[in-house]
Amino acid sequence: MTISVFFAVVVSAAMLILGVSAVAVSRRQRKSYEFLARTETFHCLRCDSVYTAAAGSDSQPCPKCGYKNSKLKF
Ligand SMILES: [Zn+2]
Repeated sequence: MTISVFFAVVVSAAMLILGVSAVAVSRRQRKSYEFLARTETFHCLRCDSVYTAAAGSDSQPCPKCGYKNSKLKF
């Protein structure tokens, strides 16, 4: 094995490792984004706290004071 072939194998292996790790990081970020996309954000008018709940509900009680708030619209 010449030095140029050895160098080509090392560079190819490094690029393969970088590509696989980039795909893994991208999948992890997509999962965290999908989790956020399935939640609704609420702002409590009584105690001024911000909280989230599962998507699909228009109003949720505040976990701190129990006041029922409607979801924020962006
Ligand atoms: Zn509250």
